[in-house]
Amino acid sequence: MWWQGLRQNLIAVPFRVRLTLLYTSLFSVALLVIGIGVHFAVAQALYAGVQSDLTSATQQVRAILNAVGLQSIRTPSGQLQLYLDRDFIQLFTNRNIGAQFFRPDGTLVSNTPNLEPYMLPLPPEALQLTSTDTNGITLVRDVNGVPVKSLITPVVLRDGQLLGFLQVSRPLDDVVDTLTLLQQILLGGGMIALIVTGLGAMYLSKRALRPIEQITSTAQGIVRAEDLGRRIPEPAQRDELHQLTVTINELLSRLERLFSTQQRFVADVSHELRTPLTAMQGNLEVLDRGASADPALLKEVIGDMRRETARLIRMVNDLLLLAQSETHIALRHEPVELDTLLLEVFRELRPLAGQVRLRIGAEDQILVYGDRDRIKQALLNLGVNALQYTPPGGLVVLGLERYEQFACLSVADTGVGISEAELAHIFDRFYRVDRSRSRHSGGAGLGLSIVKWVSEAHGGYVTVASEVGRGSTFAIYLPLPEPAVSAGAE
Ligand code: ADP
Repeated sequence: MWWQGLRQNLIAVPFRVRLTLLYTSLFSVALLVIGIGVHFAVAQALYAGVQSDLTSATQQVRAILNAVGLQSIRTPSGQLQLYLDRDFIQLFTNRNIGAQFFRPDGTLVSNTPNLEPYMLPLPPEALQLTSTDTNGITLVRDVNGVPVKSLITPVVLRDGQLLGFLQVSRPLDDVVDTLTLLQQILLGGGMIALIVTGLGAMYLSKRALRPIEQITSTAQGIVRAEDLGRRIPEPAQRDELHQLTVTINELLSRLERLFSTQQRFVADVSHELRTPLTAMQGNLEVLDRGASADPALLKEVIGDMRRETARLIRMVNDLLLLAQSETHIALRHEPVELDTLLLEVFRELRPLAGQVRLRIGAEDQILVYGDRDRIKQALLNLGVNALQYTPPGGLVVLGLERYEQFACLSVADTGVGISEAELAHIFDRFYRVDRSRSRHSGGAGLGLSIVKWVSEAHGGYVTVASEVGRGSTFAIYLPLPEPAVSAGAE
């Protein structure tokens, strides 16, 4: 269909041009409606004026007729004879309107001297008028291209006798001229208004879309250069375009952060995986060179490989858990007795303590709602770290207390401590303060990021206070359940 073709063509037209076309078309429709309305209203008013002119002129002529025009005499046989003063009608003065008086048979008796060219014969249908048709008939006839409007009424004596017909006529050339002029003004004015509107719409849409073009070209530049560090300059005016720019810039910042985290993450993961795999490869080579013949060496190699495999498994598990944290998997929401959990963790940590003293400090009875396994893992991570970074003879204390609207699970140690500069990063993935030290103890720098995620996923948070050489205290804050409103409580 043709309109589908038009639609297809319009889709290819730039938005600016479409906007201009749309705006101009709407404006021309409005203009057309207004023009037709104005023309109609003016024509109505003018024709109503003509009609009232004819009516009042008829009344005027009738008044003259009654006053001076008619005389009656009685014939010898006693019949009433009507006479008409031939020139009486000339008393009527109206420059635009001519009057004629006809006998009942349609022959002209008298007419006003003005408007001679438009003096028309009585139309045949007028002869049908009876003395009771006081409204008469109105008709428009054409005289050399000029429409002439006439009102014909019967003239009746007091006793009901038809004396003749009065025809009052008015050429409509002035009305036609006025309407033609109005049409020209409307058409000409409309065209000018349309051109001005079209040009204005073109200019305005171009101006309005210029910032968008700027945004597009900057965005294209960013795409071409693959440089997510670039930003679109923000327009000074705080309008919708400013909002759009700010949003795109925020999007770019997020993407930039995401990409660099991703890149770092992939690099870190490959690096972390390579180390145990290289160690295992080395051990395999030792085996290949005949270590199986030496039972002591064999035992050492197998022990090494077991440690590395365990490390790999732990790391992959941690990564899986962190991947879950990113997919926003819902945590369980079950009652967790934190005091029991603390005891469990204490028992599991005891075999790892070695020369370090491990104790339980404050232990309140607290129940929270959450994912038991995750909370336990977070606490274990803190405990393992504390034992790892505390030299023999040091002390690690696990605690559980209420703190405002939170349950506070704490792990305090008298270990090596963490410097202030490093404190800001220890919760980052793969961050280790001293890589060689940590690697030796098996960590990949994921433990604390898991603790942070678990705390936050439960609506809580994690804090750390540390001093180099004196020890550190990590604390997980988990929100306490809302106190239940007991029914019937006073
Ligand atoms: P890792 O698996 O290497 O222990 P974590 O994310 O658990 O990784 O810890 C990050 C870093 O924070 C560690 O490399 C360690 O240097 C430091 N750290 C964590 N806990 C302690 C602690 N209790 N005392 C001193 N340093 C710690």
